[in-house]
Amino acid sequence: MLTRVIGSWGNVQRVPHEALSLRSRFDPFPRLSRTATLLPFGNGRSYGDSCLNAGGSLLQMRTLSRFIRFDRHTGVIACEAGVLLGEILQLIVPAGWFLAVVPGTQFVTVGGAIANDVHGKNHHRVGAFGNHVLSFELLRSTGERIVCTPKQNTALFHATIGGLGLTGVITWAELQLQPITGPWMDVESIRVTNLAEYFDLAAQSHDEFEYVVSWIDCLASGKRAGRGVLQRANHRADDEQRREPRRGNWGVPRAVPVSFVNSITLRVANTLLYHRQHTKRLRAPKHYQEFFFPLDGIVHWNRLYGPKGFYQYQCIIPGDSAEDALRELLTAIAGSGQGSFLAVLKHCGGIGQQGLLSFPMHGVTLAVDFPNRGADLERLFRSLDAIVSAARGRLYPAKDGRMPREMFRAGYPRWLEFCQFIDPRFSSSFWRRVGKAPNA
Ligand SMILES: Cc1cc2nc3c(=O)[nH]c(=O)nc-3n(C[C@H](O)[C@H](O)[C@H](O)COP(=O)(O)OP(=O)(O)OC[C@H]3O[C@@H](n4cnc5c(N)ncnc54)[C@H](O)[C@@H]3O)c2cc1C
Repeated sequence: MLTRVIGSWGNVQRVPHEALSLRSRFDPFPRLSRTATLLPFGNGRSYGDSCLNAGGSLLQMRTLSRFIRFDRHTGVIACEAGVLLGEILQLIVPAGWFLAVVPGTQFVTVGGAIANDVHGKNHHRVGAFGNHVLSFELLRSTGERIVCTPKQNTALFHATIGGLGLTGVITWAELQLQPITGPWMDVESIRVTNLAEYFDLAAQSHDEFEYVVSWIDCLASGKRAGRGVLQRANHRADDEQRREPRRGNWGVPRAVPVSFVNSITLRVANTLLYHRQHTKRLRAPKHYQEFFFPLDGIVHWNRLYGPKGFYQYQCIIPGDSAEDALRELLTAIAGSGQGSFLAVLKHCGGIGQQGLLSFPMHGVTLAVDFPNRGADLERLFRSLDAIVSAARGRLYPAKDGRMPREMFRAGYPRWLEFCQFIDPRFSSSFWRRVGKAPNA
């Protein structure tokens, strides 16, 4: 038995697991000891404990990294579940195709993208990752292999999309891609002075622009709450050859003794980021790597938060109450002096969610990173939870390592329905914390 200490992206929890892997997608379900539970592990880009199974087994999926089929005419690709989205992009972009949905990092596996039903900057146009999954195979602990599509084994299809790895092992998946002309994007960056301006501009942008996202200064308060830079973009219609940006291979060493993110660096960085753009509007072509994955150029940037790690608080607030609730959230964050330069606002659209536990819904999502400051941070989080719950919002399991059980259940009212699809040999640290308790 191989025991390995495995952590998630936030580096708050690093725990021993029995590490298992499959050599091929045709391998049988791995042999577990009588009482052990299993969880598939993609590339560990989830921030909290949804990709961990403390004291149990993790099935490391990166060994399933083969492409199976790519039809350059229809844009349908099939690959094993451990293939990274970045590896798919390398293959498909030169052929004039793009993934319909990409999250803020390309170092995510196909299985992980399905299990969290990840969303991108274009949710208002195309929905989430699960809306573009044509089929996948699920390997259950009984050894059964079940092919799921929107029309075949439908209930299991919808439970597995956003199903947090609990319904079985996705061994391969087939995805519908979208056509593009080339790797370049037309990007417009606009400075916004407050939340009201963000809401106006976002509403104006959604019809014309496929991708809309805003970085915000989470320390700005009062009339300046919500100030930041909104970016809106489309794939460029020309295929003009431009020099591709050189991405430095910078990395952060393992032993960063303290967090680089503190109240002083945060205030300075946020002010610089806001004023970096001299004009109100800037329009420029950007390579897709630079636009979609700005942080991927710094290997292990998560280590900047030091040995105690960090949390990301990502909530979504539905519908009309969003602006008021977001103002309250930003006021509470600015008042606490905690936060980081990674604070992002995005709108999600009304395209039907595929998963019983999918996070996106019609509304606005705010994501902010916070260095782990123990009880002080948990006090702030409790006050943010109260605002999110009052506005009938919810938190994103992929980013979570601490939400209270009642908040999960209220935010995901279909959680009980979901329970019937959980494979009995599967579990996770997250699920034991927020999901069904033994006698619930
Ligand atoms: C810099 C950064 C930016 C991000 N931006 C976004 C964003 O914009 N939008 C967004 O939605 N998310 C975003 N995320 C979160 C990330 O996309 C998700 O956490 C994603 O699920 C991670 O995938 P992974 O392959 O690393 O899987 P892991 O984190 O290892 O696992 C995630 C879940 O998938 C399950 N799983 C993995 N493989 C399989 C499989 N083969 N079969 C069944 N279940 C499986 C695991 O059990 C676990 O529940 C971001 C993360 C980072 C670090």
